[in-house]
Amino acid sequence: MSQIFSARHGLERTQEAVVEVRKDLYREIDRLLLINEALWSIVSERLGVGETELSARIHAIDLRDGRLDGRVDGARVVCASCGKMNLRFHQQCIFCAADLPT
Ligand SMILES: [Zn+2]
Repeated sequence: MSQIFSARHGLERTQEAVVEVRKDLYREIDRLLLINEALWSIVSERLGVGETELSARIHAIDLRDGRLDGRVDGARVVCASCGKMNLRFHQQCIFCAADLPT
């Protein structure tokens, strides 16, 4: 009986942990969307870049991995300086500008 209770308690703790990870991911997505929106507003205002050029660039970047799937797939590398995830093709961390391993 206590094993069942213990297993159920462990499952509940795992479910709670999953919910927290999901909340953290949504917060991170919201933060990245905010940064993206701010960057886009600066670029479009100061450089006159329009939606057509942006769409073309998104298309080209999407195809870097050979698939047009609306995602940037590829190997990722963790920055040794700040611990954030970067795509392998970046030579410097997009968050802290530290050099990434090649
Ligand atoms: Zn970094």
